[in-house]
Order: sequence, then C-alpha cells, then structure tokens
Amino acid sequence: MDNYMRVYAEIDLDAVAYNMESMKKNLAPGAGMIGVVKTDGYGHGAVPVAKTIAPYVEGYAVATIDEARILQRHGIAKPILILGVTHPSRYGELVEYEIRPAIFTMEQAEALSAEAVSRGKTARIHLAVDTGMSRIGMRPDEASADLAVAISRLPGICVEGMFTHFARADETDKASAREQMKKYMDFTEMLRKRGLEIPVKHISNSAGIIDLKEAHLDMARAGISIYGIYPSDEVDKERVPLKPVMSLRSYITYVKEIRPGEAVSYGGTYVADRPVKVATIPVGYGDGYPRNLSGKGRVLIGGKSAPILGRVCMDQFMVDVTDIPEADVWTEVTLLGESRPAADRITVDEIAATGGGFTYEIVCDIGKRVPRVYLRGGRVVGTKDYFDDVYRDFLD
Ligand SMILES: *Cc1c(COP(=O)(O)O)cnc(C)c1O
Repeated sequence: MDNYMRVYAEIDLDAVAYNMESMKKNLAPGAGMIGVVKTDGYGHGAVPVAKTIAPYVEGYAVATIDEARILQRHGIAKPILILGVTHPSRYGELVEYEIRPAIFTMEQAEALSAEAVSRGKTARIHLAVDTGMSRIGMRPDEASADLAVAISRLPGICVEGMFTHFARADETDKASAREQMKKYMDFTEMLRKRGLEIPVKHISNSAGIIDLKEAHLDMARAGISIYGIYPSDEVDKERVPLKPVMSLRSYITYVKEIRPGEAVSYGGTYVADRPVKVATIPVGYGDGYPRNLSGKGRVLIGGKSAPILGRVCMDQFMVDVTDIPEADVWTEVTLLGESRPAADRITVDEIAATGGGFTYEIVCDIGKRVPRVYLRGGRVVGTKDYFDDVYRDFLD
C-alpha cells in the first residue's frame, strides 16, 4: 500500500450498515428500500457499498447502464433500475442483463419491446412520471394514462414499477412534495381505473425516507443518507440518526517557517504577518478537494485544527501549523472525518458551508487519484484504486 501514502479515502462500511439500520427503523410498515449507488456510490465505491447494504434492499438504482453492469460483473444479482434515459442502442443489453430502464414514451417502449421479443425475453420496466422536476417522465394526465396502458400491453414488456422524484422534499415546508405525491397517487388511480395495477410504486428519496412516512409506498430510494450525509439541514436529523462514512486522510510532505511579509500559494492571497510554521499537504482540486476552501478551510492534525493558507492548488495546499508542534513530515492529516486521536471532526456539511459548495457534490467529486480503503470492525477489508483500474480483495 505504498501508493496509499499520499492520500486515501477511508470508507467505514459499519457506518453504512448503521445508516441502513437507522433508515429501516423509520420505514413505513410494508415498505422496502432501493439502494441508490449512482456515481460510483456517491464517490464511495458502488460495489462494496452495494454488498454492504444487500441485507437491507430489494434492489439498486444507478444512473447509467454501465454503472449497472459494473455491479453485475461484481456479483450483484438483485434487480437494478436505471434512473435516467438509456440510449436505444443499448436496449439489447438491458434485456439480456435484465436491467430495468426508466420508460416514459411509446418510442422507447416499442424499441424495447422489439428487443425483448427478438430475444424471447421479458423486459421489466419502471414508468417514469414527471410530477414537478421537469426532468424526465410522462406528465401525470389522462393521455399519459392511456400511454401507460398501451405500453403495458406491448409484447415482451412488463411494467414492474412506476416512480417519480421529489424536487423539494428536503425543505421544511413539505407543501410542494405533498403536491407531487398527490399528482402521483392520482395518476396511479387513473391507471387503476384502466385496469393497470403498478406492483412497485416508489417516490421517496432520502429526504422522503426521513420526513415523509406517507410517501414510502412500496419502496423508498435511499441515496445520500446511505453515506451518512443528510439531504439538507432542514430534515429531522433526530428521526434518522446517521454516521458519516467517508474520511479523507493524507500526510504532511514538507514543513518550514516563513517570515513576516512572505506570501503563500498562487496569487499571494495570504501574506504572513508573523513567523508562521507552514505545512504542505499533497492534495488539491485535482483530487476533488474543493478549491473554494482556499484561505477558508481547515484540516486536523493530531486532533488540532490547522487553517488553510492561501489558494488550494491542483495537487497541493498549505496549512498553518504554528501551534501544532508535533506537525512534521509524514505526520497524518485528516481533511474530512474524525481526527486521530478523536478530538474533532470535519464534516461534509462543514466543508460545504465553508466553501459555499454542495454536500452531495463534495463526495461525488473525490477523484480517481484518491484510492479508497474499506473498513469493517476497524479492519481493512478491501481497497479500490485506479492506479491500475481494478478492484481487489472485496468483501465476499
Ligand atoms: C439520486 C436520486 C435519488 C436519491 O436521492 P438522495 O437525495 O440522494 O436520497 C432517488 N431517486 C432519483 C430518481 C434520483 O435521481
């Protein structure tokens, strides 16, 4: 693991299990969960996360067919739903690998039906309904109800589920989310009147899981909360306690003292007004570490806070360690997560608030140059890196 001595993301799979358990306790009776592991599990690594949450979910959701195939190639056998639109050139693979697409036009459904028939298979689909995102999906009106029924009658097509997506469920005021839910429920009623029953109805994201029990329906799609991050500050955090999953660890590469009047980093935005002990950290925005933390963020060294001096560069940045005598070359630095020893913690929420960034984006953006190390019971159970682009030693 010599190449893990620059920076690595520590992924606490026990925290993942804890978060699933916590959400499960809050689920409406009869509701199941779909684990959303798009964008490589929000930057955490989709495969180990999917394996860890397997006991808690009926299936998974991803954004692309390639993400679905990665899960399958790593032995994940439960149903996988693609939340976005898949190009028709890949419908054959959808049918072949039984990956569920989001379908909402007759063109999509007919092309998929043709693929299914030619392969002698049934394509299970989830109808996408647009109740307020204006992103994808059919409008929940009478014409769409006719369309849904027509789609359901196509040869080789089985409507397994139907979903919509909340635009504002993470806000204190749930009026908009409730309105979306009403549109969805009214639409299921229109379908029912036409004799079409939807087996798996699902509308909730993490915010819905936490705050809108009535919206859990048959299944709820857990995303950001798997990773121990709240969808916003406005949800009821007490109701579903979550533990952060990702920590970012690095090591100091250089320590020196600068004199008053000397500047640090591009643009000379920080100028010392006293003798300052400066430590260099070998991480930058090229790793997905937010550049907007320049002159504002902090890291933890031996449980103490070290403020960022000047601009974050692509591959390095500098911090003030004047008051941290133990800071030396190769001393461990925590950029995200709990310090070692445990005295303080930098959360994704803090990084987002400090830099004016968005929590989801911060974890998704941790790049391929940062290897992931998976922990269970305090032990390393697997790693993932892109030094040679392969997974090794995963959980069984
Ligand atoms: C990303 C996504 C989710 C998960 O949302 P979270 O806020 O991360 O829980 C659920 N459903 C759809 C359609 C999505 O695109």
